[in-house]
Amino acid sequence: MRSSSIPLVVPCLSGNAARYLEDCVRTNFVSSVGPFVERFERELAAYVGASHAVACSTGTAAIHLALRALEIGPGDEVFVSSFTFIASANPVVYQGATPVFIDSERRTWNAHPELVIEELERRARMGLRQPKAVEIVHVLGQPAELDALVAACERYGVALIEDAAEALGATSRTESGERHVGTRGRIGCFSFNGNKIMTCGGGGMVVTDDAAIAGRIRHLSTQARIPGRAYDHDDVGYNYRLTNTAAALGVAQLEALPGFVDAKHAIAERYDEAFAERPRLTLPPRVEEHRATYWLYSILLEDVVTRDRVLDRLAAAKIEARPLWTPLHTMAPFRGARLLGDGAVACDLAARGLSLPSSVSLTESEQHHVIEVVLDALK
Ligand SMILES: *Cc1c(COP(=O)(O)O)cnc(C)c1O
Repeated sequence: MRSSSIPLVVPCLSGNAARYLEDCVRTNFVSSVGPFVERFERELAAYVGASHAVACSTGTAAIHLALRALEIGPGDEVFVSSFTFIASANPVVYQGATPVFIDSERRTWNAHPELVIEELERRARMGLRQPKAVEIVHVLGQPAELDALVAACERYGVALIEDAAEALGATSRTESGERHVGTRGRIGCFSFNGNKIMTCGGGGMVVTDDAAIAGRIRHLSTQARIPGRAYDHDDVGYNYRLTNTAAALGVAQLEALPGFVDAKHAIAERYDEAFAERPRLTLPPRVEEHRATYWLYSILLEDVVTRDRVLDRLAAAKIEARPLWTPLHTMAPFRGARLLGDGAVACDLAARGLSLPSSVSLTESEQHHVIEVVLDALK
């Protein structure tokens, strides 16, 4: 038996991380002013192909600022994926707006675009008020289906927000070429929490091609303070700016990101190969036009009993794994919220799904061990 445990996902602080952090200490720039913040914004914008990027303290803050910049407030609805982490929807409630959840599709496990488009069309036909925004999550590193949705949102004047917190580095083939997740809607949001594909310790980023929105978000993230000598403010803002130390880590991690994406692909390929052609095991989506990052490599088993048995066996072997996201429309904070679709797909994914160790530093021998335990539990 192995004595050490295998974690679900841990950071890999390679490359220039220590050097850049030391630089912050040496120059005394450790807080919200310093050269790494601007550099991190510029380099992340260039990496994903967005015109503007604004760094903020968390991914949740990034989503909150996106909603604030779009002036979403009480009485407004926001359509949000149901099968996701709760931070996708909480900021809607911070703003006093009403989330309407969207069931998933089988092809990508993400929000079903047809459910959204049908509802927008229905409302247009009936002369009903449209949602102020549609927030689509690229869950577990899988790009969502956006082509038709981008067009429908444009047609009905609804802002599209992408929660790309779990999918930095993932791309989709589109009519305008290969595009990074987060760059197709009006605003895209990323997270650099400790468990994401790259980390700042904690952090987030908003990307957009709209200069006015970027400026507004930057302003709101720094307490809406008017530049100048006096402490004068023209709005109620937030202390949501990223620190220079966190950004220093971000710059180093971004340099390593292409290697991390490759490592995630290698891990996914090895799992796929080991689990292929097992009739009662479903592999994560592989969609021809999308290049996922497999942030957390996840599979579906036959039923909830089998899934829980596999989770128990992994836990006994000191391997960290976890069930997939509980659909938000079933959770206490959102009880009574409206839902597009019947929620059957999101609930099925949550009941039968689990995520396996996916750290970029996972060794082949560790992965082999994980695979053995899973296959053994299915015998
Ligand atoms: C991690 C995550 C967030 C929030 O990011 P934080 O940096 O932890 O605030 C938002 N949405 C999704 C889908 C996430 O996985």
